[in-house]
Amino acid sequence: MKRKEFFKTGLAAGIGSLIPFNRRHISPAKSQKARNIIFFAYDGFSWEDFSSAQHYSIRNFGRPLHLQKLFQSGNGGSMASHSLTSMVTDSSAATTAWSTGRKIVNGSLSIYPDGNELTTILELAKAEGKATGIVTTTRITHATPAGWIAKHLNRRAEEEIADQFANFRADVMIGGGTRVFDHTRRSDGKDLFRPFIDAGYTVVTDPDKLASAGGSKLLATLNNTHIPYEIDRKFRGVKAPSLLEMSRKGVEVLNNAENGFVLHIEAGRIDHANHRNDAGTSLWETLAADETLGMLMDYTDRTPGTLLIMASDHATGGPCVYGVGERYRASSEIHEMLKQRTASFDWIMDQLDENPSEAMIKDVIEDATRIRVTSPQALMLQKAIAGDIEMPDHAAFPRQPIATIHHILKGGTNDEPTRLNINYATTQHTAGAVPAALYGNNVETKPFGLIDNTDLFTIMTDTLGIDYRNPEMSAEKALEFYR
Ligand code: ZN
Ligand code: MG
Ligand code: ZN
Repeated sequence: MKRKEFFKTGLAAGIGSLIPFNRRHISPAKSQKARNIIFFAYDGFSWEDFSSAQHYSIRNFGRPLHLQKLFQSGNGGSMASHSLTSMVTDSSAATTAWSTGRKIVNGSLSIYPDGNELTTILELAKAEGKATGIVTTTRITHATPAGWIAKHLNRRAEEEIADQFANFRADVMIGGGTRVFDHTRRSDGKDLFRPFIDAGYTVVTDPDKLASAGGSKLLATLNNTHIPYEIDRKFRGVKAPSLLEMSRKGVEVLNNAENGFVLHIEAGRIDHANHRNDAGTSLWETLAADETLGMLMDYTDRTPGTLLIMASDHATGGPCVYGVGERYRASSEIHEMLKQRTASFDWIMDQLDENPSEAMIKDVIEDATRIRVTSPQALMLQKAIAGDIEMPDHAAFPRQPIATIHHILKGGTNDEPTRLNINYATTQHTAGAVPAALYGNNVETKPFGLIDNTDLFTIMTDTLGIDYRNPEMSAEKALEFYR
């Protein structure tokens, strides 16, 4: 078989066959119009991440995650995450599936490769007179939130995406990314806060001023780039707003909207931590998301006509918590070593200079993890920082030198397990189905088991009583643009 033929057959049999889920069974009745929708995205979150955080929460806080309650009292299940032309999605194609109901090519935002733009749920909601908002721990122009507003063939063109934000003007935008709006840091010197100020927005760049920010329209970029990790905020005194504070503010402002609202919230950095194979950072990003989820469930309970949707966009890193000891009895005990992680791998890298000594590497890692790595291990990181990667399966771990930190920390011996029992398969995204759940107050939701990522758009439009479908493009047609 020729490569081209194989590709065609492969697409028809593989990607295409995953698409047709029966939507009629999962959407609420049309008469059940919701006033508000809150879509809470967990970026790069898998069931394995859930198990790790769930056990940590039960052992250390004496209670299960709010996420468990969400799945038990709402309708929870799994979501297939593939994009139009890959069984492994990136965040921009994944978020487009939610916001437009269509699968596209990885790397683009709500647009087909021929330049045809898709209409997003935020645009549809705005046309219905609803307020709109985005809250995220990443730059607000980063892929996941951007796909609800912007149309671009390249998700990395964040300055142009910010221009599109200024045209669309969601009522609430809270997250990181000052550098994309600030004239002293933009490549074209444009002041992109200006159009928002002129349109009556409260503009905030200081996290301390978020809580007191007034008005019905708010643009808050609270860090130059992404919002710092929860683990560094909690244990290293890094100044940053929490996802809970940002989300609470977003809900507080939008709650006053006359005709209700659609709000996209993102725990955006579980993905970043998993790309780095950084288990402690991933845990605390997940716990920060869970704290926010608890607040959002309370809000939904108090606010009839609200639909809360939780979904991960894809899994990242292939994390696994593995069994340790006789009858795996030591597993839960060893997992407690997560408690000794008190800084992110990014923080570790920030402490090291360009050519760190062996002693410096040992000291910094010990400070962050309570583990003193051996000289060969320290040397391995030293080499990785210099660009000489020694990891055997480098193809699966291209994020370097940072992924070498997990690699040297995972050491230990078979007979005496002394290292955290979490491993990673890769630093890339993976293909597995991911968690998703619906939680409504006076908005009917139905059990769904396994859905497709595009189904969440249909659920949103049906719930809002909006009759709209975006145009479709086949995978074969899309691939013609990449020959
Ligand atoms: Zn993602
Ligand atoms: Mg994201
Ligand atoms: Zn990612």
